Amino acid sequence: MSAPTVTSVTAASPAARAGLAVGDELLSLNGHEPRDVIDFQRLSDASDLSVLVRRAGGPLARLVRVDKAAGEPLGVEVSSAVFDRIRTCDNHCAFCFIYQLPKGMRRSLYLKDDDYRLSFLYGNFTTLTRFTELDAERILTERLGPLFVSIHTVDPELRARMLRNPKGATSLRWLSVLLEGGIEVHGQVVVCPGVNDGAALEDTMAGILDRYPALASVGAVPLGLSRYSSEPEMRPHTPEDAAAVLDTVEEWQGLFRKALGHRMVFAADEYYLLAGRDLPPAANYEGYPQHENGIGMARAFAESFARPTAANPGGVRHGFFASVDAAPGEGYRAPRVESAPSGTDGRPVIVLTGTYGARVLEPLLASHPRHDIALRAVPNDFFGGNIGVAGLLTGEDLASALADVPDGPRCLLPDACLNEGRFLDGLTLADLPRSVEVVPTEGRSLRLALDGTSFRPGCSP
Ligand code: SF4
Repeated sequence: MSAPTVTSVTAASPAARAGLAVGDELLSLNGHEPRDVIDFQRLSDASDLSVLVRRAGGPLARLVRVDKAAGEPLGVEVSSAVFDRIRTCDNHCAFCFIYQLPKGMRRSLYLKDDDYRLSFLYGNFTTLTRFTELDAERILTERLGPLFVSIHTVDPELRARMLRNPKGATSLRWLSVLLEGGIEVHGQVVVCPGVNDGAALEDTMAGILDRYPALASVGAVPLGLSRYSSEPEMRPHTPEDAAAVLDTVEEWQGLFRKALGHRMVFAADEYYLLAGRDLPPAANYEGYPQHENGIGMARAFAESFARPTAANPGGVRHGFFASVDAAPGEGYRAPRVESAPSGTDGRPVIVLTGTYGARVLEPLLASHPRHDIALRAVPNDFFGGNIGVAGLLTGEDLASALADVPDGPRCLLPDACLNEGRFLDGLTLADLPRSVEVVPTEGRSLRLALDGTSFRPGCSP
């Protein structure tokens, strides 16, 4: 187990007043060793802390007294979210995207996690195959929700086959435990054509209504297939497959509404784009419970592009910790300030995005009063296959797309394809052949970047 290591200290915070510094290892708080940032948050919420600190290069650990009020943020960021080991996944799904990555990428990208804590902290999906009684006890006691569970199918035999793990047949019993304990859980079904679509998907919907009606929502998302997949059973959805999935989902939305009062199941945006159907209206997404899973993202984007002054267009709920690597110095619930480039200097604009994003943006940009905006759909040659989402664009493909773009126009790039300043292939903005402006991947920010007006969410300009 490693101790949380301080990576930043907020000025004038209790930690700063107590003399904590970057590089300090916080071995215990009030005598307890935190296993993860969830423990860390709980322990550091107390008033008046005794922190056992080991300073880099220092002789021995020493106790530091921190004066603070209960609930007041301690004022440090720490190096990781989990201080004991991240629980890795023991499944071998044929549809797993990690198996479809080319060799030689960053090591962290190959980590298959299946850890309920990352589900709580970041919205990662867990199959519960490594879940234990102790985990359930902790979740129920500490009320760790919402959680996100990969269901795929409720047929035990098929689930074990899809996860390539016999434990897949029984691990959904934990889902019942969580739901009976009143924990908010969202599910997902990765639909693989010829495997768990068609009649199997119908059975899954019926099984959810029968056994897991307390689920908060279920997302039906398509299998993503890169050119590195070596699984003969896996094939991308055809437009007909997509239409069939939409028919099933929409039929079941009606049945769930009748039985439970809400739609429960939602189909990924990709299905509507692939089937060539209009996206549902915003109200049909019931608050966008699966926005981060690519469900309703396109509709929410369009809504916030059209009404950029609304505080939270479409009511999108961002994950509790969605963009946090560890403990933010100002506390876990600190507002995340999004910065979008604003102001227009009269230069024409090129908006870069993936091939799916382009289909969403095309009508929006056409409706904008400016006539000097060009849209460039960047094909994903790096991954190939059916990969077209903006979040998987790589520096290599963007560099090719930008190679023939002259210096004149502004180029806008969605931030979804960057993680800590790096593209998935490890390149950075500095590796691109020309400068680009990075825009938060939401409609309001793009609109701000195009309009050049300045407004604060919730205020009329
Ligand atoms: S459970 Fe997730 S991480 Fe594990 S093999 Fe399946 S898709 Fe990959």
